[in-house]
Amino acid sequence: MCGGGVFSLRVINALNPLSQHYTKDADGLCTRLIKPKLMEGTVAAQDEFSRSGWALNRKELKLLQTIGKGEFGDVMVGDYRGNKVAVKCIKNDATAQAFIAEASVMTQLRHNNLVQLLGVIVEERGSLYIVTEYMAKGSLVDYLRSRGRTVLGGDCLLKFSLDVCEAMEYLENNNFVHRDLAARNVLVSDDNIAKVSDFGLTKEASSIQDTGKLPVKWTSPEAIREKRFSTKSDVWSYGILLWEIYSFGRVPYPRIPLKEVVPRVEKGYKMDAPDGCPPVVYDLMKQCWTLDSVVRPSFHMLRDKLQHIRAKELYL
Ligand code: AMP
Repeated sequence: MCGGGVFSLRVINALNPLSQHYTKDADGLCTRLIKPKLMEGTVAAQDEFSRSGWALNRKELKLLQTIGKGEFGDVMVGDYRGNKVAVKCIKNDATAQAFIAEASVMTQLRHNNLVQLLGVIVEERGSLYIVTEYMAKGSLVDYLRSRGRTVLGGDCLLKFSLDVCEAMEYLENNNFVHRDLAARNVLVSDDNIAKVSDFGLTKEASSIQDTGKLPVKWTSPEAIREKRFSTKSDVWSYGILLWEIYSFGRVPYPRIPLKEVVPRVEKGYKMDAPDGCPPVVYDLMKQCWTLDSVVRPSFHMLRDKLQHIRAKELYL
């Protein structure tokens, strides 16, 4: 189990023990509680965020305009004490629980290639705001598609690959599994630094019941079949992300119907190199797609190789 999962569960499990007690036994109440009220989870989280110093003041946050739609709610650009920030807003108490998990995970992580959490606002009515650094150039996949090969040279592509690899090496060292690594979940800053974001899927492996919701084309065979998520399943996804970078944001496995992807991959099928992809980089992709997860390289090894490719200009 990853460290992040432990922490997020701790917050969710801060669900008032009293409410848990009264779900089993009315114990003097006029009725047994049928379901613990979700609000209690949010209130507990609010205390936790205040205690740990992550709570921000709602009065100091100005929400300016909507810039994206996430799985759980709108993403807005805002102003916090004169700084441009991104804000994930959620008004529904039930989904707020999932957000709390995401924010809790983010409080533990700090790296130049991870989108930085600035703070959290939990309102009494259950609205929740996750405030992060603002990434002016949006998602990497949109960035690659809109600029294309006429604008982005091999040095840029390799730099994005290294940025993401460094973030993932940091997660690897901290025994933390992302589970949803893909170019859509990498954001680009004003100064062209790629940063990994979207920790929405970072749950305990056992809590991912619905494999139908997994991003099949990015998920390793053992994670799809047996829900075996690990740093090595992130390495598989990283190989797909490399393919996305070098194909300027194409959707992986072009021309293969979605339901045929997993059976073909399990028989050893691997995507071809994107047009113009340096053979040394394609070689890394193929290593990431080794069926036996144990044999896949670590992010540490991948970063080392990418740095070598950069230093020797093998990408030209
Ligand atoms: P998400 O819910 O994280 O998948 O975000 C949905 C979309 O909102 C992304 O694809 C981005 O276009 C935008 N977005 C999310 N976070 C940020 C951010 N920190 N800075 C700028 N745009 C963001």
